[in-house]
Amino acid sequence: MTGPAGSLDALRDRAERVLMHTYARQPLAIESGHGVWVRAVDGRELVDLVGGIGVNVLGHSPRAVTDALADQSRRLIHTSNLYFTAPQVELAERLVATAFPGRVFLCNSGAEANEAAIKLIRKWGSRHRGGASGIVALEGGFHGRTLGALAATAQRRYREPFEPLPGGFKHVAADLEVIRDAVDDSVAAVLLEPIQGESGVIPLSDALVAGVRSLCDERDVLLAVDEVQTGMGRTGRWWAHQHAGITPDVMTVAKGLGGGVPIGAVLAAAHADVLEPGDHGSTFGGSPLAAAVACAVLRTIEEDHLVERASRLGEYLHESLQSLRSDGVPVASVRGRGLMLGAVLSEPIAARTARAALDCGVIVNAIGDSVLRVLPALTITEEEVDEAMHRLREAFAITRTEGGA
Ligand SMILES: *Cc1c(COP(=O)(O)O)cnc(C)c1O
Repeated sequence: MTGPAGSLDALRDRAERVLMHTYARQPLAIESGHGVWVRAVDGRELVDLVGGIGVNVLGHSPRAVTDALADQSRRLIHTSNLYFTAPQVELAERLVATAFPGRVFLCNSGAEANEAAIKLIRKWGSRHRGGASGIVALEGGFHGRTLGALAATAQRRYREPFEPLPGGFKHVAADLEVIRDAVDDSVAAVLLEPIQGESGVIPLSDALVAGVRSLCDERDVLLAVDEVQTGMGRTGRWWAHQHAGITPDVMTVAKGLGGGVPIGAVLAAAHADVLEPGDHGSTFGGSPLAAAVACAVLRTIEEDHLVERASRLGEYLHESLQSLRSDGVPVASVRGRGLMLGAVLSEPIAARTARAALDCGVIVNAIGDSVLRVLPALTITEEEVDEAMHRLREAFAITRTEGGA
């Protein structure tokens, strides 16, 4: 060990020995964070455009979260779900108010929220659709790493080593006619992400989302939307499906909900809410601590008008990324919505650029060869976007010099 916090190299060596090698981590060790800034263990300050993969919606260690943690932790941290607690009820009320009438099940992560949704869909199918249990999910979708959520996820590389996975999932192209063909009598629901985050910020068109809604109505199957990454105001609406003017039957939520504290939720409209005592549960789900924090996050987003802000700053960030082109940066297009954006590069330099960006003091996320994903805090300012772009421009200059040499 080299210093009190440990240098990057020392941490990396220790991690190598004791942490499973499940993550290909970037060469950065973070010691603290405030707003959209993080401080590395070597003292450098970086602008964080990844925000814990869309989790830190209010930035790092925001006052609303630290106060709620401190206050609630002195009062009550955990009770189990054998009893009632006020924060859990308030959280469900707040979630429903931003989304659609229905009820909420609280859990601890995105994958868990999708597991609960899968169980709910299956039970609904057995009760209301003659035993249909199938779920149509989309190619390019990502729903988590637990076995059920993984079964819903199409990409082979995530699935293959862990087969057999639970059956009953059909993966089809994000095309209305193809989805229509897949929704036969064996199917109970269609599951989709309004913007596919993990596969490179690929938006489904509003027309497709609305078309799938109509199809589900026609065929009497449930529409489940995975808003784990697109939710909490990030896209400029509370929930991304609202851009398409539709209401789903089931919605899963996690990432930004706790502003950094683990929590997930599934919402179901009354007609889809078939879970009864004994059907599902979670020891930690909706603990007073996590629920109080999530209430504080929802309250802050509302009081500080952060949904509108995500829309406005999202446009600014979108234009800023596009205008990197005038400096010779190979940005082919920018896709996504609000503060969930992907810059598509016309050269396969995403990973090298993300690496160089760390040296230049900005954090972006490379997906595949050619997409840079950004999911900053909804509180980011124009000045911070400008500073991030300045640093990103330098990173591209370094990458392209190396590449062209
Ligand atoms: C991140 C993500 C998940 C999985 O969430 P975890 O909290 O990592 O289990 C599921 N669905 C989508 C769309 C996600 O982006």
